[in-house]
Amino acid sequence: MQQAPRVLLRIRPGEAQNAQSIQLADNKQTTVLINGPKPEKAAGKASSGPQYQFKFDSVLQSASQEEVYQAAAADVLKSALDGYNGTIMAYGQTGAGKTYTMSGGRKQSYAQRGLIPRVITQLFSELQSKPSQDCKVNISYLEIYNDSLYDLLDITTAPHEINVYEDRASKVNIVGLRSVTVSSEKEALALLFEGEANRVISEHQLNRESSRSHAIFTIGLEMRTSNDLSGTVVASKLNLVDLAGSERVSKTKSEGTVLKEAAHINKSLSILEQVVLALGEGSEHVPFRSSKLTHVLKDAVGGNCKTVMVANVWAESSQVNETLSTCRFAMRLQRLKCVITPNVMEDA
Ligand code: ADP
Repeated sequence: MQQAPRVLLRIRPGEAQNAQSIQLADNKQTTVLINGPKPEKAAGKASSGPQYQFKFDSVLQSASQEEVYQAAAADVLKSALDGYNGTIMAYGQTGAGKTYTMSGGRKQSYAQRGLIPRVITQLFSELQSKPSQDCKVNISYLEIYNDSLYDLLDITTAPHEINVYEDRASKVNIVGLRSVTVSSEKEALALLFEGEANRVISEHQLNRESSRSHAIFTIGLEMRTSNDLSGTVVASKLNLVDLAGSERVSKTKSEGTVLKEAAHINKSLSILEQVVLALGEGSEHVPFRSSKLTHVLKDAVGGNCKTVMVANVWAESSQVNETLSTCRFAMRLQRLKCVITPNVMEDA
């Protein structure tokens, strides 16, 4: 099966009193028009800037968390249960709503729950409806900061003890990362909250902002049908990724740690983009190993997977340059084709 990644644009509503830069251009909710910044020369005059048009698989404007779940994740979860790998990534500038999309609102109200808790709830509800299937669910939660790997389920682990390597079948493995087997929705949600709390603790203890790191929550599934005597196991992996803020940091205004962080983020996101372009062109050399982010996601952006990107943008005119850069990145990803087949392996 060949399938391009699905790209959804989610627009975070701006304050009503501020000028807005984005409008929907069609009633199918796929195309947006963005009013670009005024040209330098015309600044101050009434003249307007250029208008840009972008087409996505779907544009989510004023969408509820449940609507975003249905549009972005429901189908990927269903495929994971059939043995297909999946990745859902939230991309965009800091403040555009990536964490809101993936984890939910800070107040943790039930209606504001993000994609990860909804995927967990739906997963266990699906498994309950298939009692003849024996399914092992493993959870891990990884953070990538300045190209080093941190275990969000074990913050005592030093980063150099966690490493990515590929086995003989070119399958990506992360050594030293805790992978916890869970048997209920409650246990899985507890790990999600533990990881999120640890992310906040590291933020304070190590003085780093969570918006400057990538967080990858992975659900591994191993399914056996109890009346199947062939011993076949269907395995899949679902990566739910809250990427670091994509905004450009001014080199003139920042220094030291901020500049170093920005350099790592720019590098990893630009390699993600190069990987995407290389895959789209069918190139033989895809630079997965050039950053930890793309290496960890190798099986999930290029190979055997279903990929969804939620590009988060902020509707306010003051943010238009970042909005345009997010839309351009997301458009490029949309052109990529992925070959997907379910993972079936012999039971060891
Ligand atoms: P990011 O992770 O991209 O830095 P956040 O998810 O932290 O951004 O969002 C910034 C703020 O905006 C948070 O207070 C969040 O609750 C709020 N927010 C983001 N998107 C939405 C939305 N679609 N609806 C309501 N509030 C939102």
